Amino acid sequence: MAEGNKNLTRRQVIVGASAATVTLGAVTLGSSKAQAAGRWDHESDIVVVGSGAGASTAALIAHDNGDSVTVLEKAPIVGGTSAKSAGVLWIPNNFALRGRKIEDKKEDCVRFMARYSYPERFNASQPNLGIGERNLAMLETFYDNASPTIERLQKIGALEVAEWRMFALDRPATDYLDHVLENKVPAGRTLGPLKADGKTVGLGVDLMIHLNGALKKKGIPVLVNHRVVRVVTNPAGRVVGVEAESGGKTVTVRARKAVIFGTGGYAHNPEFVATYQRVPIYGACAHPWSTGDFINIAGAAGARLGYMAGAWRTQILLEEALQNPNLAAGVFFPPGDSMLQVNRYGKRVVDEKRNYNDRTEIHAQFNPTEAEYPNHLMFMVYDERTADGFAGAYPLPEKPTGAPYVISADTLDGLAAKLAERLKDVGPKTGNFSLSADFAANLKASIVRYNAFAKTGKDEDFSRGKHSYDTEWHAVFSPMHPGSKYPKNPSPNATMHPLSAKGPYYAIILASGCLDTNGGPQIDPKGRVLNTKDQPIPGLYGAGNCIASPSRYAYWGAGHTLGNAITWGAVAANNAHAETPSEAE
Ligand SMILES: Cc1cc2nc3c(=O)[nH]c(=O)nc-3n(C[C@H](O)[C@H](O)[C@H](O)COP(=O)(O)OP(=O)(O)OC[C@H]3O[C@@H](n4cnc5c(N)ncnc54)[C@H](O)[C@@H]3O)c2cc1C
Repeated sequence: MAEGNKNLTRRQVIVGASAATVTLGAVTLGSSKAQAAGRWDHESDIVVVGSGAGASTAALIAHDNGDSVTVLEKAPIVGGTSAKSAGVLWIPNNFALRGRKIEDKKEDCVRFMARYSYPERFNASQPNLGIGERNLAMLETFYDNASPTIERLQKIGALEVAEWRMFALDRPATDYLDHVLENKVPAGRTLGPLKADGKTVGLGVDLMIHLNGALKKKGIPVLVNHRVVRVVTNPAGRVVGVEAESGGKTVTVRARKAVIFGTGGYAHNPEFVATYQRVPIYGACAHPWSTGDFINIAGAAGARLGYMAGAWRTQILLEEALQNPNLAAGVFFPPGDSMLQVNRYGKRVVDEKRNYNDRTEIHAQFNPTEAEYPNHLMFMVYDERTADGFAGAYPLPEKPTGAPYVISADTLDGLAAKLAERLKDVGPKTGNFSLSADFAANLKASIVRYNAFAKTGKDEDFSRGKHSYDTEWHAVFSPMHPGSKYPKNPSPNATMHPLSAKGPYYAIILASGCLDTNGGPQIDPKGRVLNTKDQPIPGLYGAGNCIASPSRYAYWGAGHTLGNAITWGAVAANNAHAETPSEAE
């Protein structure tokens, strides 16, 4: 590592800090440890903050560009949430598609992304598709750089990937919005990391074994237990380094060209969650270090923030999350066919088989007449067929009542009464969310209506099972247990089966949760963080969940977040490479 010993002067400015330590009004001028000591502890062309997929890619591409790099990671281990993930990467126009001679044209793909990300503004006949020049440029940049980033990582020996296929179906993965006209390539944009055997597609841990392993192989220094708390700017406002806290000491690191943040979202920062989210995110499967540090660090440097209410959403188990919000997983694919979800009025409000991100949005729907969130908590109700036939598919336990979060009763009235009691118990933590007086009657009516749809195979309310996403992901993640005493679903719509007229019945309380959040400082198409005047803050870049998502709230398909994180990490590194090195001050 390049060990610097350059003087910092009084004229330099230390800005930013975690919410816990410094407020914006108390930005420190000329009082940092670095200034007092008059030297930097470390120095390189580019400083990368974080060691997840976005940050690691930025570091590897920067190194390949010939820049010297220092990586700072606040956790004692590397890999971030990326290492907990399934490792799937959504990459348009990828080598597997091209190998199958499937054209994923830029114009078409960008239209699809624009349609999904900006449904209220998208208009193909307007300039910039109606979504604005900058937003369109972000989507074009993603398309232009996604597949080349994978190929570059492969070329430098930092990653091995293959097409990610849908396990038992053994076919390319269907996008999360496969059926809209704008999606011309509805399946096949997903790749997955290879395991050490070089053949089998693995998980996030394998992705990060590749990327973090490559950092090591290439001799890129990674300083764990280093929590970056500030960026350092020169008098011209250029970011020239960072301050980190490590073992009770302050460590200063100079960045001659740029600092790139890849520090994840704020899912585990209760204060930010309470401030920015409409209904609580009760828990997240992001790793516990996702506390949104970049928001205050960049905010103090003058960054403008975007999409702060955003998150990569998933339903979660309320009662598990109340015990520990650091979750292993979300309810990504609610299992079962004789299963429906209802709100506090006992009414269905969503296609239960829609993708996790879009489905979970329903929790924040506002009822203006009652001034309430009627779907704040939802109730997954099912019968013995689902409890037995889909046992073991999370969150259904192996035995029907084999988990404390499963509520059961012989009748629907009994189930409603037990649910009401359970809600009372957790009331102090849920704003006393309760069932309406007509919940049981409405639930019965909802089941009658659902059963009629299940018989015809046509969900006239929410189109459950109408589109390939629903049916294919149901087949992969919610197959019937081979040893079940119940017959296979004979319906043409395998996602729906009538609930039995006889109990026992079961219910699980679902809450709003997330993989991680995706709001933060806004970047431009070069990955540069923008200030409140819409100008780039010189020397400051970001990628992954720590920035305002370039896709806004849309989850284009499996692997969306990692596809974006690595692509924007590479974009940031390439543009940072072109920066003129700052003067040593
Ligand atoms: C169970 C699960 C499955 C998932 N599966 C998929 C999937 O298959 N495909 C997909 O696309 N997405 C998936 N996701 C989501 C995906 O994991 C994340 O969106 C992605 O990993 C985010 O990457 P990142 O680079 O932005 O940040 P992270 O991987 O979260 O890395 C951020 C790093 O920054 C560090 N850091 C934070 N603050 C500081 C600081 N102040 N100083 C220094 N370091 C700091 C953190 O400790 C962390 O190591 C899944 C998530 C979960 C939980």
